[in-house]
Amino acid sequence: MPIHPEVIEQPELDISVVIPVYNEEGNIERLHMELTEALEEIGRDYEVIAINDGSRDKTYELLNEVQKKDSRWHVIHFRRNFGQTAAMSAGFDAARGEIVVTIDADLQNDPRDIQKILDKFEEGYDIVSGWRQDRKEPFFLRRLPSMTANRIISNSTGVKLHDYGCTLKAYHFEVAKGVRLYGELHRFIPALASQMGVRVTEVPVKDRAREWGSSKYGFNRTFKVMLDLIAVTFLLSYFNRPLYVFGAAGFFLGGIGTLMGLYLTVFKLLTENKIGDRPLLQLAVLFMVLGVQFISTGIVADMVMRTYHESQNKPIYYIRERRRGQSDKAVVNEKVIAPETI
Ligand code: UDP
Ligand code: MG
Repeated sequence: MPIHPEVIEQPELDISVVIPVYNEEGNIERLHMELTEALEEIGRDYEVIAINDGSRDKTYELLNEVQKKDSRWHVIHFRRNFGQTAAMSAGFDAARGEIVVTIDADLQNDPRDIQKILDKFEEGYDIVSGWRQDRKEPFFLRRLPSMTANRIISNSTGVKLHDYGCTLKAYHFEVAKGVRLYGELHRFIPALASQMGVRVTEVPVKDRAREWGSSKYGFNRTFKVMLDLIAVTFLLSYFNRPLYVFGAAGFFLGGIGTLMGLYLTVFKLLTENKIGDRPLLQLAVLFMVLGVQFISTGIVADMVMRTYHESQNKPIYYIRERRRGQSDKAVVNEKVIAPETI
């Protein structure tokens, strides 16, 4: 039987640390040591939720061992590798802390920086993001694409951060529970959460070289990030009315096509030249057809969005009967019949 996620609705302790773990057998022991030291020094209630994302090495056994000797640790084992976003989502669902801190298992983040992040958090932010200083990764393959991506994400989403890619971040309980992630969107949480009206800031943190194992991502991550970026930008700005985006493109192309067509018609009528062999005619027809297509795609997308919103908006209760008291001016007893099938 598949085990369904357990979603917690009220914070029960101070801090939850969520760690996605994929083939990190050589890092687990040190991770446990460094984290425990850092968190004990902070001195607040905490739990650690490690999500084993279908590792094929000894991660399974090692995490279970840690869990056995340290009851503040919880371990979730995925059936297979679902990706870092899914792992973090599972951690968010299970988290019981008022502040949810995410950190990599490879110790590239220094657990002692959690203190800094929490201090900033206390100033009244909903998300505090780490900003890795003095990065240890190769410039052209890693840092340059990452710098470019951060610029574009910041400009197009309006949430200005220097380092979206840093996993060391802290989220308020409600933000962690509120964002719905899929694909590889974990990098975009601050941007996505901006829709909820959250306050986001960043603090400089250390970047350390990976001492054991290797990165789970290659260069193709850059393309995925770019595609995710397009999706996120679209989601953020035109989520409610995709028709506005498609419609604008449709009007633009259709308009140009119509103008070209008009020009050709006038040209033919006035000069009695043939227009059948003019490439402009084909272009005019192409643009007009594209215009219609864009607008109809927009309408379909709008309907999809509406279904999406309304299906999310299902009432969580059904009233059978409501009786109003005397204090109300109009005393009406209304009877609301519960739908037979819910
Ligand atoms: N990770 C994961 N599932 C994956 C890939 C990575 O849980 O499919 C974890 C990995 O174990 C690490 C974190 O996500 O704790 C970041 O991965 P990595 O260090 O490879 O990324 P990089 O530091 O190169 O950005
Ligand atoms: Mg790493």
